[in-house]
Parts: sequence; C-alpha cells; structure tokens
Amino acid sequence: MKATIVTLPGDGIGTEVVAEGVKTLRAVAQAFGHQFAFREALIGGSAMDATGDPLPEETLAACRAADAVLLGAVGGPQWDDPTAKVRPEQGLLGLRQELGLYANLRPVKLHEQLLHASTLKPGVIAGVDLIVVRELTGGIYFGPRQEAEEVQTAGEMSAYDTMVYTAPEVRRIAHVAFRLALKRRNKVASVDKANVLAASRLWRRVVTAVAAEYPDVTLTHVLVDAAAMHLIRRPTDFDVILTANMFGDILTDEASMLAGSMGMLPSASLAGERTDRAHPFGVYEPIHGSAPDIVGQGVANPLATILSTAMLMRHSLGLAEEARAVETAVEAALAAGYRTQDIYEEGTTLVNTGEMGDWIAGRLVRE
Ligand code: NAD
Repeated sequence: MKATIVTLPGDGIGTEVVAEGVKTLRAVAQAFGHQFAFREALIGGSAMDATGDPLPEETLAACRAADAVLLGAVGGPQWDDPTAKVRPEQGLLGLRQELGLYANLRPVKLHEQLLHASTLKPGVIAGVDLIVVRELTGGIYFGPRQEAEEVQTAGEMSAYDTMVYTAPEVRRIAHVAFRLALKRRNKVASVDKANVLAASRLWRRVVTAVAAEYPDVTLTHVLVDAAAMHLIRRPTDFDVILTANMFGDILTDEASMLAGSMGMLPSASLAGERTDRAHPFGVYEPIHGSAPDIVGQGVANPLATILSTAMLMRHSLGLAEEARAVETAVEAALAAGYRTQDIYEEGTTLVNTGEMGDWIAGRLVRE
C-alpha cells in the first residue's frame, strides 16, 4: 500500500525517538512491500523559534493531508517562562483540537522481561495488561481560563481553569471504551471525581447510560484519588480505564511505572470516523515528554515511539500483521537482553537509542 505519514519530531528527545520510529516504518515498508512517504513538519518550541507559532498553519495542513501522524514531544526549559503568552504545549493542544483527536488510547502492558525493571514489586505488576481511554479534547485543559496577569483583586493576582464536559463529549468517548472492552476482558472502570465535581457527576450519569447498551461489559465507577491508589496496589484488576482529560494525563504517568519506564508507553489519539477515509485518522506518540535532562546523550528509550508506529499501522493504515511484527520485534529485542539506560539491569546489554532502533529494524527486514 501507499501511505503518507507526517512526522512531527518536536523538541528535546522527540527528534531522537521519532528518528527511530521512522527507521522502523521504513523497515516495515521494505519487509512487506509498502510505500510510505514521510513529510516532516514543525511543532512546539522548535516551531516557535522558526516561525513564532507552536502550531504553524503549514503543519496543520500537512497533517490534514496525511494518512497518519507520528509525533515526538514538545517543550523544554528554554520555553518555560511562566509569563509567556505563547508556549510549546499550545501546539500540542491545538493539534488535538484542530484535528478532532478526542480519543486517546494508552495501553499499559508489562513486557515479561521487564518484570524487575520497575520500582514496584514483581508480584504486584506481573501480568499487567490494561488500557487507558482518555478524553482528549474537552475538560479542564480546554475550558475557560483566566491567567494570573489578567485580573488583580485587592492587589492580589487570581487565576482559574474550568472543567467543562457536555453529554455528547462523554458519550462518544464512553462508546470507545465499551467497544474496546468487548475485544478485551469486558471490564470498564470509569474514573471521575463525582463526589466533588459537577462535571464528573454528569460524566458518571452519561457513562452509566452508555453501559446499558453493552450488557456483556461490567462497569465500575472509581474516584480518581482511589484509582491512583488501586493502580499500584492491584493493577492487574484493571482492563479498560475510561477517564477525563486531566485525570488520564496524570494516571498514565503513574501507570507507566507498571511497565518499567515512561520510555515504554505508546499512545494513539484518534479522530472520529469519516466517510472519506477507510480508517480513523490519528496522531501517534510516546506518552513521555521531551526529557530535557537526557537530551543529546543518546540514552532515550525509543521503544514507546516504535510501539506507537505499531499502533499507527494498526489503527490508521489497517496493517494489523505489520503492527504485530513490530510488537514481536520489540519483544525479541527485550528477550535478547537489549536495554536502554532507563530499563537497564545487571546482566543485560546496554544499548543507545540508535542501536535499539537498528536492532529492531534489522530484525523486521530479516524476518
Ligand atoms: P518527561 O516525560 O519529559 O520526563 C520525565 C522523566 O522520564 C525524565 O527523567 C526523563 O529523562 C524520563 N524519560 C522520559 N522519556 C524517556 C525515554 N524515552 N527514555 C528514557 N527516559 C525517559 O517529563 P518532564 O520532565 O516533566 O517534562 C519535560 C518537558 O516535556 C516539559 O517541557 C513538559 O511540558 C514536556 N512534556 C511534553 C509532553 C508531550 O509532548 N506529549 C508530555 C509530557 C511533558
């Protein structure tokens, strides 16, 4: 098949890990006889430096014309001025909103070989296999806000953010979670803060109503503070976790430790289905940030990005076999003992970012 893939490396280690993602996709194209055309565009701090805009119009246009997008990460200390009007993260949030990427899927699966790489006890995390379905274009990240500089009351600054959800926004993401549960272990845990927040009470009502359409799926409601605790106390009990934008952001960083490292978790951000596309459009990215503490050292773990390319091929290109081949190659690299610094243990072989990518690409072409 022919596909156009836009790459948005972004900032910091984003450029390092996306290079390995592209290497993987090129190897798949070679091994399976596909033609993937790559177009690179700017986002985040590097886009601000080049154009003044964290999400240039040209980038949006390229993404809209593509079959799928592979993104690295945005942000870094050089753009961290809290009083700045323009910030790299606006590029990411703008991209999600402009492209209608409302469904963020974050699978958290412990690779058996990394059982001892986590700071959590092997007995607790063995067998972890869950997926977080995070609402991505609503909630507190997109509600009305006031910056501290805008208003002063009695000489003191004040600021606010607002969590807003509409029933249709909750309904469509709930359907994504329930449909996924049907293909997995038929369990949805909906995470909210309904004891305090009105938006969460609406969330709970709508999710309960949607659940009635899926009699084979068991729904439980969990308050977000309790969910944070249960995630590290009994993570194997979870199958599909359905949650709002900010709660999902926080819980998935916590959940990354169940898989050993931030550098292991891929994600897919999907738009609604459209009749002019055979498959849902999506942006695929590791869940981690630009990691300024390790940038330029060649130690970033590229596996989250490489696993994101598998999600890209499965969801946006309909290439399930190719996706599985990439996942198998990642498992093979871990089984062969190759480890980047973040997941290194004694007795394994330390490799850098590029070496890990080379090994996986080589394996894909050889198989
Ligand atoms: P981070 O995810 O960049 O890093 C957290 C920790 O995990 C760091 O110690 C880092 O070295 C480590 N880490 C992350 N990815 C790794 C990888 N692939 N391999 C090995 N180690 C890895 O979070 P942060 O430090 O809080 O944020 C840094 C910048 O990234 C900030 O500007 C933040 O706004 C931005 N950020 C961007 C995104 C995104 O683009 N999606 C997400 C989160 C944070």
